[in-house]
Amino acid sequence: MKIGVDLDGVIFDTEKLYRIYAELYEVVELKKNTIIDNRNDRFQTRYNWSDEETKQFVKKYHDDTIKNANFMTGAKTVLKMLKEEGHELVIITQRGYDEKKYIQITKEIFKENDFEIFDKYYWGIVDKEKVCTEEKIDLMIDDYIENCKKISNAGIKTIYLKDAPSYEIDDTKYLKTLYNWGEIYRYINQELIK
Ligand SMILES: [Mg+2]
Repeated sequence: MKIGVDLDGVIFDTEKLYRIYAELYEVVELKKNTIIDNRNDRFQTRYNWSDEETKQFVKKYHDDTIKNANFMTGAKTVLKMLKEEGHELVIITQRGYDEKKYIQITKEIFKENDFEIFDKYYWGIVDKEKVCTEEKIDLMIDDYIENCKKISNAGIKTIYLKDAPSYEIDDTKYLKTLYNWGEIYRYINQELIK
């Protein structure tokens, strides 16, 4: 099976670390409480910050988040198992869209962690549905609900990895919400491969 895998919030625990930093930034530094809706994926719509406050947050925490976020629990174990079982693994990520330097940083993190197991990499991708279609991906794993909706609506099996107080969405023939890498492994082996 050809499996497409997102990076942030799927392989790296960046989304959670970014959420934690955003909370601390608002409470400790801004000394405010401007939460709009905690289920919003993007901090820009989660808080009511000024442009300057947003800019300062990104400047202070974005680099740190990319460099220091842990791997998602179970991601390395399960992806290595899937690779050994013969699946083709393709990274499809938006990372590298704004800043190209994050591509090299990520490659180094993979190298340091003995995790250079991917067959192909698509960096800086905004339209993931297009890449999934062209690459003939059998299953895409992403944590961003809008990507999941779009990819599954194109008739591609999609796992919505939900690891935050994000919005819920009903499962469909092509869309499945799961909560950790153990569930992903079970789903692939007991539901998709018969
Ligand atoms: Mg993501």
